[in-house]
Amino acid sequence: QYPSIRDKVVAISGASSGIGEAIARHLAKKGAKVVLGARRTEKLKSIEAEIAAEGGQVAVVALDVTSLDNFREFIAVAEQSFGGIDVLVNNAGIMPLSMINSYKTDEWNQMIDVNIKGVLNGIASALPSFERKNSGQFINITSVGDRWVGPTSTVYSATKFAVRAISEGLRQEVSNHIRVTIVAPGATESELSNSISDPALKKMADEQFRSDTIPAEAIARAVAFAIEQPEDVDVNELVVRPTAQK
Ligand code: NDP
Repeated sequence: QYPSIRDKVVAISGASSGIGEAIARHLAKKGAKVVLGARRTEKLKSIEAEIAAEGGQVAVVALDVTSLDNFREFIAVAEQSFGGIDVLVNNAGIMPLSMINSYKTDEWNQMIDVNIKGVLNGIASALPSFERKNSGQFINITSVGDRWVGPTSTVYSATKFAVRAISEGLRQEVSNHIRVTIVAPGATESELSNSISDPALKKMADEQFRSDTIPAEAIARAVAFAIEQPEDVDVNELVVRPTAQK
């Protein structure tokens, strides 16, 4: 049904839970060769075993996206495992929401390091290969917060605005044969609220996430849609949120 995903090599950052894990499982079922990166290698190994048990082709690599060397190694291992890489999904992210006047400056820096520099490190690591073979696709997972800001999401949204800008600039600069896609999720089931250190805000987020989320597989289907288009069709942006989310 989806011949253009079969045998594509897709590297996914932040694949140890939530949306990244769902993307890995969904694409593997469609016949992609998936390479999973994250810091929690035990979780990666158990996901790898389950994908492999279902006949999927999978490799896992320890990855901290804040390190350029580490990201380069991740891409190198992906290439060695499967003979090249066709798609990089820059998915890893954290969302420690807080009011600016809480001055959680360490968390601001962590968000900038993971959500922005992590994506730039991914681009710097995969683009040379894409340019060499004159094809490839970046899929950057932003958020509805890439175009919307609310109280407590100031810095988080700023990081996602930045990824949207980076994606658009990249799209314009690279060759006509390299695709750049952003997928912007709304409230989606995952472990994302675990990074919120303020107990009251975490409770609020968890309550919202319990009552009004879509499964992470919904985002995985959007990613698959962008990949399975013919090479001359670049789906630039997909916004996917719960029907009830305003
Ligand atoms: P999760 O917390 O479930 O997943 C986040 C993933 O990022 C984990 O696999 C985590 O792995 C990884 N990660 C975090 N820091 C690093 C790091 N330094 N290096 C490598 N990997 C890292 O949340 P989601 O699945 O929800 O988040 C995925 C993306 O979706 C994020 O970019 C998030 O901003 C975005 N998003 C999510 C929404 C939602 O409602 N869930 C809405 C909008 C956007 P590990 O800890 O093992 O390293």
